[in-house]
Amino acid sequence: MTDPAADPAAVWRGRVQDHLDAAGRPPVGAMADWDVFPFERDGLTPKAMGERVVPEPDRARTPEECGTCKALARDELVLHTGARLAVIRPGGTSLMFVANIVARDHERLDDLDEAADEELGRLVARTYRALRALPGVGNVQVSKWENGGGHLSVNVLARPLGVLELRGSNLPIWADMLPDIPQAEYDRRAGLVRAALAVR
Ligand SMILES: [Zn+2]
Repeated sequence: MTDPAADPAAVWRGRVQDHLDAAGRPPVGAMADWDVFPFERDGLTPKAMGERVVPEPDRARTPEECGTCKALARDELVLHTGARLAVIRPGGTSLMFVANIVARDHERLDDLDEAADEELGRLVARTYRALRALPGVGNVQVSKWENGGGHLSVNVLARPLGVLELRGSNLPIWADMLPDIPQAEYDRRAGLVRAALAVR
């Protein structure tokens, strides 16, 4: 018999199986009762959980296929260029503003050294403050989900002041459902963020 400590994720997955229904679906969780959850509980159907996949498939993109590498090549999307990292923005957003702190080269968080770690910390704080200072911003959320694509990207998301449904960790789901802001408005804010990040 295999030692469970050798594959703790197998133990985790085995334990979860007892929590699933016959189709492999978990029950809807407590988050569905949060004020900021974007969906009504009635009618929600969780997806079924499949078998584990080990080893995991390689999801890394080449620099030629990488959206972050492409954005870094477009001056209008670059907000700041540092020693090892840069701050960019997506081409459009439904929120007040979105920035991404990214590696200048096609590399992961795992690849950074001590100096780049320090640069990352500084840029997270400075980008947060630059977005927080924009007129009409109620709060700014910071997250890092990426790794599969192979290019470090920390997301910094600014929600509109007073729109309380958009508070918290469901902000990206709300953002996905709402229309993009006008490009000229987004570009104008990009100028403010670029100027704020240029101040030492
Ligand atoms: Zn890349």
